[in-house]
Amino acid sequence: MVASVLDGRACAASVEKALIPRIEKCASQGVVPHLAVVIVGDDPASHVYVNAKIRTCKRLGIKSSYVALPETTSEAELIDVIHQYNVDNSVHGILIQSPLPSHMNEEYLTDLIDPHKDVDGFHPINLGRLVQSRKDCLIPCTPNGVMRLLEWSGIETAGKTALVIGRSRNVGMPQAILLAARGADTTVTIAHSKTADMAEQCRSADILVAAVGRPNMVKRDWIKPGAVIIDIGINRVDDDADSRGYVLVGDVEQSAEQVASWITPVPGGVGPMTVAMLMENTVQAAENIIQR
Ligand code: NAP
Repeated sequence: MVASVLDGRACAASVEKALIPRIEKCASQGVVPHLAVVIVGDDPASHVYVNAKIRTCKRLGIKSSYVALPETTSEAELIDVIHQYNVDNSVHGILIQSPLPSHMNEEYLTDLIDPHKDVDGFHPINLGRLVQSRKDCLIPCTPNGVMRLLEWSGIETAGKTALVIGRSRNVGMPQAILLAARGADTTVTIAHSKTADMAEQCRSADILVAAVGRPNMVKRDWIKPGAVIIDIGINRVDDDADSRGYVLVGDVEQSAEQVASWITPVPGGVGPMTVAMLMENTVQAAENIIQR
């Protein structure tokens, strides 16, 4: 068996298409959805991600603002920028690109974003509402994108077992909550760096979500035959044969496709979904302003 591809690019295109009439409706009511992106430092991967987000905004007619601050920026300077965007009524979404430099407390700083503009969905108010299964929250983009991709592909989740490897506040933990929520109805196990029997845990999962950041950590022979594999990991691995000097690989060995029923490619799987859900959250935040 060779797994079918969970095509994140095609699904993201369908999400974007559905946003266009919503963006036009906002504009007809005098509101152009507006995303403000802040990046601090020179991390090359972060700049690639930010550029992709801004390009997508342009394509959809979402206004974007972009502030690039040097690595040496102080927390106080960044707080000033956050505050300015918080009080600017023309801005509907604020995104601070992760990771921030090591001298900054990322959690503390992102908590300062107005929860109504928290399009990453990381604010305790949004995450708290997600845990309560409330609809009035902005949901973290990557796990929400995974749920949308499963739904779009017609993959049944109810009654299935899922293993989420990773328990970060932005990816693993909200992913587990979304999979276990009413409607998705999956029975979820969360694994992490202290999990003792990772191979066995993987072998019992109908749906395996890897969000670790370790290239090829999940081995082909850990996969339950017919499992659905969602590979969230994006890892740069040196490769002299590539013109960039590196290639991107996931957390799951490529050969797992020989055992699984469905698998997300890296790149082209979860990554485009993350950007599409960011656009959706920005439009949602603008619509919320109109309705308030
Ligand atoms: P993170 O905050 O570093 O969390 C990584 C998680 O993996 C932690 O919970 C950690 O466990 C766990 N872990 C580390 N080593 C492990 C091991 N040997 N066995 C099992 N679990 C282990 O990372 P993140 O922000 O969640 O991101 C995870 C990956 O997803 C990264 O590669 C990132 O680039 C990628 N990502 C992709 C997208 C996308 O759009 N495709 C979006 C966001 C992130 P402990 O809690 O025990 O330390």
